[in-house]
Amino acid sequence: PAEVHAFCADALAHRADLDYDIDGVVVKVDSFAQQDELGFTARAPRWAIAFKFPPEEKQTVLREIRIQVGRTGVLTPVAEFDPVMVSGSTIARATLHNEDEVHRKDVRVGDTIVVHKAGDVIPEVVGPVLDKRPEGALPWQMPATCPACGSPVVHEEGEVAYRCVSIDCPAQVKERLAHWVSRGCMDIDGVGDELIDKLIEAGLVRDVADFYQLSVDDLAGLDTGRTYLKDDKRRGVRAGDPIPVGATIAQKVVDELVKSKAQPLSRVLFALGIRHVGKSVAEVIARRFLTLDALVVANADEIAAVDGVGPKIAASVKQFFGVPENLAVLERLRVAGLTLEEDLSGEAARAAEEMGVAEELVAAQPLAGLTFVLTGTLERRTRDEAGAALKALGAKVTGSVSKKTSYVVAGPGAGSKLAKAESLGVSVLNEEQLEHVLATGEIL
Ligand SMILES: [Zn+2]
Repeated sequence: PAEVHAFCADALAHRADLDYDIDGVVVKVDSFAQQDELGFTARAPRWAIAFKFPPEEKQTVLREIRIQVGRTGVLTPVAEFDPVMVSGSTIARATLHNEDEVHRKDVRVGDTIVVHKAGDVIPEVVGPVLDKRPEGALPWQMPATCPACGSPVVHEEGEVAYRCVSIDCPAQVKERLAHWVSRGCMDIDGVGDELIDKLIEAGLVRDVADFYQLSVDDLAGLDTGRTYLKDDKRRGVRAGDPIPVGATIAQKVVDELVKSKAQPLSRVLFALGIRHVGKSVAEVIARRFLTLDALVVANADEIAAVDGVGPKIAASVKQFFGVPENLAVLERLRVAGLTLEEDLSGEAARAAEEMGVAEELVAAQPLAGLTFVLTGTLERRTRDEAGAALKALGAKVTGSVSKKTSYVVAGPGAGSKLAKAESLGVSVLNEEQLEHVLATGEIL
C-alpha cells in the first residue's frame, strides 16, 4: 500500500508536467486470478479503485467584482480576474453568487486569489491569498444602485439577493417585454423575440407602454433579421439584402396590440411581471380590487388578506407600486386606452345561475375571509353543491376542522368533525342557517 500511496502522490506532484490533462489515477490489482476472486459489485469491479485528484488550483489577481443584472432584476456579483489556465482551459471570471458569499470568502479587488473548477467544470473562486493582499484593499460592498439603470436596489427581508425593481432597467427590459406579449399575459401574436430585439435596437420600445405607440410605419421599416437568399429583379432586391417586416405583418401586429388593450386587470397584473405575482395570484387580487386604482391605493394588510396572497406577495406588490417609474408606465398604459379593470359582471351572472345564489352576492363576495367545513347530510343541496355556492360568495371551504375554521355546517349524521368543532369552540350552523347565509350573505 505504501508503494501505491507514493505513486499517487508522485502523479499528483507531476500532474502539471504532463502533456495532457489527468484528473486522477486508477489503481488495479494485477493478477487476473485475484481479479476473478474479487469479482464485481453491482456497479463496479472490486479490483480497481480511482484516486481522484483534488481540483487543480491556480493563483491569479482579482481585478474587478462586476454586477450582472438578471432577468428578474437580481444583482449577481461576478469575479473578473487575470486569465489563467485551469484544468485544461483558460478562465477569467467566476460567479460569486451573492453578497453573503463575497463576504464569507472575503475576496477584495486587487487580491491574489485561488481559483479552481468545481467538478472540473465550473470556475470558482476558492478564496484570497491573505499574505499577498495589497495594502488598502477594502471589503467589497453591494452597490446601492443598479449598475444598469441607477435605480436604488432593494434587499428583501429573509433573502440573500439584492434586486433592481425598476421597470425601466435595460437589463430586464427585454425579458419584461417578452413576458408582456406572451400567451397567458397580454396574448399579443406576432411579436416574437427577434422583433423585440429589433424594436429595442431601433429605440422604438423601452417599456411595455411603448408597444402601444407603435405605428404600421414604425414596424414596416424594421428588418426581420433575415436576408434574401436570391436576387429578385421584379421586387428590386438582391441576395443578402435584409428582409423588411411586410406591411401586412406590421398591420397585424398593430391590430393585435389594439386588441390586447381590452385584456382584464388580472392579465395586466400578471403581464407586468411583479415578483411573486403569478397567474392565479393576479386573478385573486384583480377580483378583490377590481380596478388598478383601487389596488394602487390599497395597503399591504388589505392585499395580504386576499385568500392565497399573504404578506410576502403583498409586500412585493406594494414595492412595485412604490417605484415612481412603474407608476409612470401604468399611467401611460391608461392613456393608451388599456382597460385596467376586472369585469366580473358576466362571471357573477354565470356563477349565480349555476349555484342558485343571487348575482349581487357573487359580486359582493360577502363571505370573503371566512372558512367553512361541511359535514353530515344536507337535504336541499349535496355537500359539493353547498360548498360551491359558499365559494361563489367568497368563502373558503376545507375538509377538516381547525382553529382557523369560521363555521362548521352540520347536517344529520355529522360525526367527528362536529365533535371537533365543539371542542374547539367553532360555531356550528344547521342547514336552515346555511340557506339563510346563501340567500342573504349574512350569518344568523
Ligand atoms: Zn436596474
